[in-house]
Amino acid sequence: MDSHSQPVRPDFSTVRFIYFDLDDTLIDHLKAQERALVDVWTQYPELQRTEPKVFASEFAGTNYRLWEAYRSSEVSQSELRRLRFEQTFRQIGVGTLDWREVDEIYMDCYSRHWDWIPDARDALMQVSRHFPTGIMTNGFTFVQKKKFEYFSLNRYARHLIISEEVGYLKPDPRIFAFAAEKAGFKPSELLYVGDSYSSDILGGCQCGWKTAWYLQPGKAPERHLADLVFSGFRELLQALIPDTKTNPT
Ligand SMILES: [Mg+2]
Repeated sequence: MDSHSQPVRPDFSTVRFIYFDLDDTLIDHLKAQERALVDVWTQYPELQRTEPKVFASEFAGTNYRLWEAYRSSEVSQSELRRLRFEQTFRQIGVGTLDWREVDEIYMDCYSRHWDWIPDARDALMQVSRHFPTGIMTNGFTFVQKKKFEYFSLNRYARHLIISEEVGYLKPDPRIFAFAAEKAGFKPSELLYVGDSYSSDILGGCQCGWKTAWYLQPGKAPERHLADLVFSGFRELLQALIPDTKTNPT
């Protein structure tokens, strides 16, 4: 156990309902995105004038900026899907590709690389035996619904909440309020588990929820508001279900 980042055992005794983030908390979105971009790269000689890593990192940076713009309603979902390719192509000097065709291939490849974050499935299964659970995700409805189905998430989660359906993206307090209402518990009885400090941890804290931050080992800043920082799901299980055995089952 890392005594520097985790000096005090978090008090989760008031927790009655647990919501999980989906991308990069339960499901490895970034790995699927990277692999899908390499698949796209292999199909287009125009792209191969640039290293696949450069193409993937240009796309990732552009996508991140456009998601910020989408979050603040400056661009629509369809503009985001168009611009993230058009702008990436421009940055790497490719002018001839049809973004719609590339997007279609990308989305298809992306879904073929979906996989759980290590131990996340087992943790979700165990947590859902002890607590009612839900999933709250920022994402496109048509993509996230496919993930719910592919990973059979309705087996574990009572509520599957997607920002696009609610009309607000995390960290907007209104999506946390919507989720709390669905769960039927007070904010202090809710725990949010996620990987994004700005969307998940600050969003949850602002609404009076308990928070658990999934983060790579040693990456936590000295000062943060999360009740728990964990880098392996066993740490989360031990905090929530104290009699969890430490040996893997
Ligand atoms: Mg996430």
